[in-house]
Amino acid sequence: MRPALDKLSLLQSRQGRAHRLRTHPLLFGERPRGGHIQHRLINLSVRVDLDSPEMTAMAELLVVVDMQNGFLREGNLASDRCLAVLPAVRREVDEALAAGHQVLFTADTHEIDDAEFAVFPEHCVRGTREADLVDELLPLLARDEVLLLRKRRYSALFETEMEGHLHRFGIDSVRICGVCTDICVLHTTADLRNRDFPVTVAVQATGTFDGPGHPADAVQEFAVRHLRRVLGASLDYG
Ligand SMILES: [Zn+2]
Repeated sequence: MRPALDKLSLLQSRQGRAHRLRTHPLLFGERPRGGHIQHRLINLSVRVDLDSPEMTAMAELLVVVDMQNGFLREGNLASDRCLAVLPAVRREVDEALAAGHQVLFTADTHEIDDAEFAVFPEHCVRGTREADLVDELLPLLARDEVLLLRKRRYSALFETEMEGHLHRFGIDSVRICGVCTDICVLHTTADLRNRDFPVTVAVQATGTFDGPGHPADAVQEFAVRHLRRVLGASLDYG
């Protein structure tokens, strides 16, 4: 039994039915015998479908960005600040699953000679432990409602299956958390907003690293402000 998917299937079939009814010739002036009565019934069906609470309640996706060993515990980019948000991220995941939402974990994954290593030191190379989710989150991948999405650039929508997932599961809004706030969270949010998806940032479950030329508190503050004011994301500090 997969409750989230079953409800999404129901939602998708309802959306499909509403679409067919809206484009039905009866609604565009063709009126065969008895058409008056049918027209009223069809309009009633459309109204009920579009107002269903399930349509808005069941279509949120939680995107958890790059909670991997390579950013939290091991290697050149591991950061205690990123590790510190793990409990808040775990709460986000537990609440999403309890609400029947799907969860998508992104995982930064590079080939050995990736061009990104001209910008950042080598990290999260395919097949290494750095590329894995941290042990606390790894078992969640066994669940039907949880997906893993490997990506090689900051945005989770660049050359990945993510857009297909959004359409296939009828997702109409995204909640996002993870690391780093100013890099992969921000660029993923930007690409979602470019596609007009409403995005809510779970601010307490985001974080970034501290280092030379990258003061974590100031960068976090800038990124959160940019997410709200420039990209139009909603902020949730709960
Ligand atoms: Zn990377």
